[in-house]
Amino acid sequence: MFSFSSIKNYHSFLQENPDGCSIAVEYYLKKIDAARRLNAFLEVYDEEAKERAILLDQKRKSGASLGKLHGVVIALKDVISYKDQKLSAGSKILENFIAIYNATAVERLLAADAIIIGRNNCDEFAMGSTNENSAYGNVLNALDTTRVPGGSSGGSAVAVQAGLCMVSLGSDTGGSVRQPADFCGVIGLKPTYGRISRYGLIAYASSFDQIGIFGNTIPDVRLVLETIQGKDDFDSTAYPHNGLDINKIDEKKKLKIAYFKEAFEHQSLDPEIKKTLSGFVENLKSDGHSVEAVDFEYLDYIVPTYYVLTTAEASSNLSRFDGVKYGYREKSKNIELAEFYNRSRSKGFGKEVKRRILLGTFVLSAGYFDAYFTKAQQVRKILTDRTNLIFKDFDIILLPTSPTTAFRIGEKTDDPIAMYLADIYTVYANLTGIPAISLPLFRHTNGMPFGIQAMTNRFNELSLLHISELLIQQYKSYENPTL
Ligand code: GLN
Repeated sequence: MFSFSSIKNYHSFLQENPDGCSIAVEYYLKKIDAARRLNAFLEVYDEEAKERAILLDQKRKSGASLGKLHGVVIALKDVISYKDQKLSAGSKILENFIAIYNATAVERLLAADAIIIGRNNCDEFAMGSTNENSAYGNVLNALDTTRVPGGSSGGSAVAVQAGLCMVSLGSDTGGSVRQPADFCGVIGLKPTYGRISRYGLIAYASSFDQIGIFGNTIPDVRLVLETIQGKDDFDSTAYPHNGLDINKIDEKKKLKIAYFKEAFEHQSLDPEIKKTLSGFVENLKSDGHSVEAVDFEYLDYIVPTYYVLTTAEASSNLSRFDGVKYGYREKSKNIELAEFYNRSRSKGFGKEVKRRILLGTFVLSAGYFDAYFTKAQQVRKILTDRTNLIFKDFDIILLPTSPTTAFRIGEKTDDPIAMYLADIYTVYANLTGIPAISLPLFRHTNGMPFGIQAMTNRFNELSLLHISELLIQQYKSYENPTL
């Protein structure tokens, strides 16, 4: 019977099994079918995945040199372009839209011999924290199906959580990889802004968006990152150098760890999460690392800043969905052009997307631009400067990933502000562009997982992944005070 623990072990399995890729694909197709109730996949590429597995098995048998992700079974969030496949961003406005090219990340996965098994459900245009904004229904958390998986990359998180693929790609504009990873108990990495090309990623807020990776082990996440990252002529914001770390920290040296006092004392933080994480962070001292509480007086400004700037960018990005160029088109005849746009967009977009387009249009309007948009840009600059200063003295910042464990379905749908405020710990990394990872170390007495979030300076992903391994090791020797 096939089972998956890591890409490395899977590659050893493939050496022993000439039909190994086909065995793996069959295994996942059965599991996906049995887990249909979770609604993690909008589409499964059954036939195509089987054919590709046969080709890859043949390639191995022929003795040809193999790609880094040879036979690795991967799922893609429904915002990442996969040529000739549907791409809907969880929205009705793009229902039945077919991608006409591959995202650069997908191009690189395929060149490395990966197998793409399907398209994951997500919040409409990646706007949301629970997957309840998808036009194609909720995704259920596999650990407790009365709870949400988080969002917006809920389907991709559940696909890894429920063992429906080996790794998956999501996108993270304000936490959409790390928060669902936290709610589902898997690893979620948001790389530095610019680390992975955004070519072929449907835009929500272009100066925040970044493709992220879900996996079960750090080496798996690293392998995928190494494969898809780097310079791309199709995205001028993609980092032009090849090395994975510009400023690698010395692995033998003890770490200088910062945590934000205000974050650990915030009233929204669940008391049990607070106790566990504070204990864990303090415990790092016993291993010789220096741990310091740093004042971060801006904490309460970061969610408003994020929502002003991202909705402004979204209102501009989403203006292209007008019923003419893509997707849903109003059928009535003999109507004025403005009315045609109006009806196409009113019927095509869901409630949350409309709310954000309106908010974004408002903050960009002539009378309010300076009060909101300019002000938020200034706050973003202050946050970036402060972050640069912190990384002069520290290697790493630790924060919670989310103030609570996974919400119950429907718990926050009537209160969008409460939903937005729960992004308090994740949006910081997107505002400042730094890489951040959620590590699923803990379990709450309510039975749900939660993690800790680690961040390093820009383009220091190797250090971040190395530190993540250390934290996972450290956790093994940590006695959780709440258990
Ligand atoms: N929850 C955040 C939001 O709703 C995160 C979205 C994201 O990262 N795509 O905007």
